[in-house]
Amino acid sequence: MVTTTADKHDRATTRNTIQRALVLEAVRTLRDHPTSADVYEAVREHHPSISRATVYRNLGVLASRGEVTRVEVPNGADRYDFRTTPHCHALCRTCGGVFDIEMPQVDMASQVTDAHGFSIERCEIVFEGVCAQCQSRGEAHVEKDCGSCHSA
Ligand SMILES: [Zn+2]
Ligand SMILES: [Zn+2]
Repeated sequence: MVTTTADKHDRATTRNTIQRALVLEAVRTLRDHPTSADVYEAVREHHPSISRATVYRNLGVLASRGEVTRVEVPNGADRYDFRTTPHCHALCRTCGGVFDIEMPQVDMASQVTDAHGFSIERCEIVFEGVCAQCQSRGEAHVEKDCGSCHSA
């Protein structure tokens, strides 16, 4: 639970703002790249009256404001990330888990020099493979594949 002064200063805000704060709090608490359904379940636990549509709408608003990161997963539900600094993700094809990948920050967008005038706004990398936990359970053999690189 993180309560910042920014959270506090806005007591007399609209219901929308309060609901948005609840959704943001849930994403920050879950920390493990929840789906919108996961976020809804987490919010509903403490606020049973909140609707799924409200949670989903607020996730969209938070993502568009850059307060959470929407991680688009190939062939899966979008995930939400409390981390808003650029980083890469790995998707486990066995358990469906999404993990943060720490790698030297390469600002790929700025390195694209021959894009025929295309205005590049973002670049998202999702690696695919098998997470350590699934490997140790022997549920899948390890494969060095990267769906993002080969699918184009
Ligand atoms: Zn896994
Ligand atoms: Zn992440």
